Order: sequence, then C-alpha cells, then structure tokens
Amino acid sequence: MRASRFIQVLLPLRLKWEPLYSYAPDSLPSPLTIGDRVRVEFGGKEYVGVVTVEDASEGADRIGREKIKPIRGTAERLEKVSREEIGLWRQVAEYYLCTPGEVYKAAYPAGKVEEEEVKARVRERISKRVARLDEKIAKARREDTKARYIEERERVLRLAQNDNRNRHGIGGEEVTLPELTDAQSKAYSRIKEVFSVGKPALLNGVTGSGKTEIYIRLAADTLAKGNNVLYLVPEIALSRQLEERIRAVFPDNLKVSHSGESLAKRTEVAGFIRESPYIVLGTRSAIFLPHRNLGLVIVDEENDQSYKQDTPAPRYNGRETAIMLAGIFKADIILGSATPSLESLYNCQAGRFALVELSERYFHAADSDVEVIDTIAERRKNGMVGSFSRKLIGHIKERLAKGEQVAILRERRSYAPVLQCEECGAIPKCPRCDVALSLHLKEGLPGKLVCHYCGKVKEYSGICPECGGRLVPVGAGTQRIEEEAAELFPGASIARLDSDSAGSGRHEAGIIRKFAAGEIDILIGTRMVAKGFDFSGLSLVAVISSDSLLGQGDYRADERALQLLEQFRGRCGRRSEKGLFVIQTSRPDHPVYKSVKGEMDPGRASETFLAERKAFGYPPYSRVVNVILKDRDRARAEAMSRSLGAELTYSLGNRAKVIGPYSPEVDKVGGEYIRLIRALFPKDASLKSSKRALLETVEKFGGERRYSGHIALDVDPV
Ligand code: ADP
Ligand code: ZN
Repeated sequence: MRASRFIQVLLPLRLKWEPLYSYAPDSLPSPLTIGDRVRVEFGGKEYVGVVTVEDASEGADRIGREKIKPIRGTAERLEKVSREEIGLWRQVAEYYLCTPGEVYKAAYPAGKVEEEEVKARVRERISKRVARLDEKIAKARREDTKARYIEERERVLRLAQNDNRNRHGIGGEEVTLPELTDAQSKAYSRIKEVFSVGKPALLNGVTGSGKTEIYIRLAADTLAKGNNVLYLVPEIALSRQLEERIRAVFPDNLKVSHSGESLAKRTEVAGFIRESPYIVLGTRSAIFLPHRNLGLVIVDEENDQSYKQDTPAPRYNGRETAIMLAGIFKADIILGSATPSLESLYNCQAGRFALVELSERYFHAADSDVEVIDTIAERRKNGMVGSFSRKLIGHIKERLAKGEQVAILRERRSYAPVLQCEECGAIPKCPRCDVALSLHLKEGLPGKLVCHYCGKVKEYSGICPECGGRLVPVGAGTQRIEEEAAELFPGASIARLDSDSAGSGRHEAGIIRKFAAGEIDILIGTRMVAKGFDFSGLSLVAVISSDSLLGQGDYRADERALQLLEQFRGRCGRRSEKGLFVIQTSRPDHPVYKSVKGEMDPGRASETFLAERKAFGYPPYSRVVNVILKDRDRARAEAMSRSLGAELTYSLGNRAKVIGPYSPEVDKVGGEYIRLIRALFPKDASLKSSKRALLETVEKFGGERRYSGHIALDVDPV
C-alpha cells in the first residue's frame, strides 16, 4: 500500500469540526499545505474545502487511518487561501458564536468557486495560445507571416489584459492632495500619533469638516509605503460621490466591492488585489476579500447600523470585524463619524481607542438653524395642510424662490403605511407577519397592499375584508408626501428616493446626480436622503412626522433618532450659506429635539445615553447575545423557547442575566413565530468562556430536541 498523508479540511458548512482526508503524495507535484483547496466528499456531496492542517497524522491514528477517505482531487486552479484569511474566519466564528465554515462560505460564496475556475481556465487557454504563437513566430520563414503572428499574439495579450486593466502602482507618482487646514492638520498628526502606538483612532468630526480629506491622505501615505487600503462604507449605493472623489486621486488602484455584485465581479476584485497595490472601497463583505499587505482600514460612518449582518450567519458587525482584520495585519485603523456610536465612545473612555475631534467645518458654514414645529398645536389653529405645516410650506416657498433646494425626510415608504376600515376599525394585516399592510399606488393602477417584512403583495380593492366598509389611509408615507408636495408646490420639480423608487441602483444614482446638478428642487425620501451626500444647493432639510423615529421599546431608539437627525442636518448648508433644519413632531419637548436644538450639547447627550446604559447594565457595559427561535407552530415556539430559557438560566447561573423568552415587536414574519431570549454578560475575564457556555447549552438543547435548525444566535444584535 502506498503511504498516505493526512490533512484536515475546513468545509463551507455549519460544522463544528474539520474532517480529515488522505492523499497519496506521489499523485501531486508537491505536498498540500495550509490554504490549498481540495475537492472532498462529505455526506454524499462534493465540496471545495481549505486545508487547515497539513500534517494530521496524529489525528488520523486516533481515528484509525483506514477509516479516512481520500480527497477527490485538488482544486489547483483556485487561488490558495492565506493564513490571514483563515485566522480571521476563526476569530469571527469565535466572537459571533458560529463556525469557521460558515465564515468561509460567506467569504467564498457558493458558485464563486466555479466562476473562479472559469477565469482560471480562460487564463490557461490564453497562455497556451500565446505559447503556440511563440512557436509559430520562431518557426516562421517569411517575414510577413511572422509579422502576422506577432500581431495576433499582441491582440491575444491585449484581450487578456482587458481583464486586468489598471495595473499601475502609485509608486513614485506624485498625487496632489489639497492642503489641509490647521484644524485638519492637527487631527491628522494626532491620528498618526495614535497609529504609532497601535491603537484604533475614532475621528469625530461634524459633516463637512474634511474627514474624507483626511482618510484620502492617510490612504495615500499607506499606498506610498507599498501597503494596501480597505475603505469601508455602510452602503455602496450611497457612496457614488465618494467613489468619484477617491478615483480622482487613485485612478489605477481603486476597486469597488459590495455584497450585491456578481460573482464574476468579486472574483475580478479578488484577482486584482492579489497582484496590485490597491484601495478597496466596499461594504462589510469586502472585509473577506483575500487581503494582503493591508496597511490601513477606514470605517466611514462607523455608527451606521447597516454594518451589521442580520442573517445568515456569520451575523457579524463590519466595524468590529474590521478591527479584527486590522489586528491580524497589524494595520492602522480609523473609525469616523459625525455622530459616533456609543460603543466606540465607550471604547475611547476605556482607553481602547483614541478620540480625535475635528469640530470646524471646512467652508466655515455655521450650524444650520433648527425649528421644531408642534404639529398638534398647529392642527388646533388650522396651521396644517395635510402632512405639511403652513410654517414649513412658507419656508419651502422661500427657498424655492431663491433657487435653493429642499430635502424632506419621512421614515415610511408607501402611500399610506396603515389602512383602516371606516366602519369597523379593522386594519388589514399580512397573514404571514404580524404587521399592518401598507398601500402602494402605481400610476393608473389600482394599487397594492404590501408587507414590508416579507414582501407579500395583495391587490387593493379599497374594501374592508371584514365588513365590506371603506378603507381609508392612516398617515402618509413618502409617496403621499410626494403627491401633497406636487399640489403645494406646482412649479417645483420633485423626486422621491426610497427603496421603492430606487428599485435599481442605477435609477437611484440618477436621482442623486440630478439633485446634485440642481435639476430637482425637492427631494423626498426615507433615511436614504440623510446619507453622506454633498449637495451644495441644499439649504433646507425637513422631517415630517419625526415621531416615528422616537423610542418604541428599543432602548437605543432615541440615540439612533438623534444620530439620524444630526446626519440629516449635516446635509444642508454645507457651504457658506446658513441652512435651516425643520422638524415636525407632536412631541416637541422630547430630549432628542432639545439636543438637536443645541439646548444640550451633543457630547452631553451621548454621556446621558451612556449613563442610562450603565444604569441598566446594557451594552456597551455588558455584552448581549440574542437567542432567536423561529417556528411555524406557535405553541411549539412558545414551549421550546420556555424550556431553552430555563436551561440557559440554569446553566449560565450568575455568569449572565437571562431575559425572556419574550416576543419581539413584530413576532411573526414570513409565517414563522419568533421568540427571543436575551443573555446579558458582564464584560469581564469570564466573557469568552461564558459565551461558549451559552453556545454549548444551545447546541446540546438543539441536538437533544432535534431543534437546531430553529435556533440562531446573534451576538451584539442591533
Ligand atoms: P466630511 O467627510 O467630514 O463630511 P469632506 O471631506 O467631505 O468632509 O469635506 C467637505 C467639503 O470640503 C468637501 O467638498 C471637501 O472637498 C472640502 N474640503 C475639506 N477639506 C478641504 C481642504 N483641506 N482643501 C480643500 N477642500 C477641502
Ligand atoms: Zn408579511
């Protein structure tokens, strides 16, 4: 019998262990090493796994060598995975209580493997063809034949290179960057100091203060040193302007990467960064590209909740994972925001991060004025026209008359978020989710009822299904606001930006471009309109029904409302003229508005929020893990969550505070009932082992009751 070697292989599955396989060394040109990809059979299916242990003979002896299956083959056409990548997967799995296999699968999504192979095969074919032409050129007797072959060879190479354009490094080339202001230079040198002691920097700077200029400068420094840059943003669709700005500085090194892109595109980006100096601008999934020589990680708008992946596992937060990634490469890392997350502020207090502040706007624009309008009082004195107060209408008219632009935020898409029967008071709900259906109108069509949770769509008849009465809209969504605005401001050009209107990213980019070019006067939308755009003509921003942003059960709602409002306010008056920020609410005395009005300074507001969190033992003073149970059968969801809750309370003892099971605000989605159990862990030395204990209890429970498929764990839920 031929001697075999044994390897351990990581599979793209939710497996807690990594199986062993054998191979005959003389069947391969060189022995397999860590990171090589191999084809193996597992549970009757073939997978491409990653070698994680190159000599597993000890383990093989324990199991019995004869029991170990051979690999089916190598996947030598696929790029090797780096040790850094495997290291990151393990860290993410440990922190987020999932398996490295699940992270591997997220990093190399199914199907990608084949794409990669096709590309590899194309490359192979091309080099063979070039080699054949080389031969022909060498053998050619006549000059014109030779010239033809040479031309052909060049054409083939050109074609091949089309794939990999932009291969030039910035090495040596001077990039001209704008000169930093005094305030910016100070922040910049402070950041450099922070980097030199190996800490993450948190850059807290008002919108327009030049954070992006500083990031670009840091990126240029990093590339000049021969290292690479990862620049993370919460959502790619909203970063078109940023992309253009970065491309202007690094035309040959920029690649954009986000989770919605095609596998071919992701493979192309991966191929590029394996070979060239790079700056990748991307969303959280860009963390899992095969990075190399990473010198700098930028996390822009670090407080944004879109950094968190809800489902499927790994349910990771891009901000935290970026810190892990930077740790692996010993890269510098900077988090930036106009309204930093409490988690990051806490980390500064604890000395883990260093805070760098930049409080001056580049264009020296003063803070915009804030006007809070009490809609109840206005309604009483006939000061409201539909969703708009007469005061706001006046402001809008004034701005339009001056040729300036207006943005209106309404945090509910649809025509009407809720419908109610005039006769019996019934509210049509989604049969699969416990939420009201919203009415969406389409020009010339009868309209549709849509569930915003599962996407279910029903025809709209206007008739109550309970009693046959007439359904009337309750409240106004973006669509209706758009309609009202069209009536109120007939001369203005109006557009809407929400996930209905956006539909395709291209349409959305079109709206943003038109607004930036001044072709649109009034832009109405959901929180998308508050994101990082720079519109110089925008001088009035207004929130309609701001109440929907405020606290509803979630202990973080208020601070999030404040962050969104501050972000939105930052959109207007970015240049020298002073902007106006109008908020329409029925709760004008709410502390959130006090803070926006400047009656409480933003630092104080965060301190207050932090103090509240501390008093209740909420994060960041503790760590939360949510145990989520889902079941089509309500009684079983109830019973299972109760017994699991009891087991967790028992097994964790005083290592955690176990809350629940309880029903979330929306407790039925897509036909499945949802129950939550929340574990609050103190942040101390035992945290890791306590989290592990929770995982073990849940796994044991899932195994014994054959219920694993119904349970998910969410670490640091948002
Ligand atoms: P932030 O990222 O903090 O919102 P930006 O970097 O986008 O701020 O800066 C706001 C505006 O000011 C941009 O148009 C930017 O080009 C300009 N700006 C900022 N700093 C400078 C500078 N030092 N020189 C020239 N323009 C600058
Ligand atoms: Zn639904």
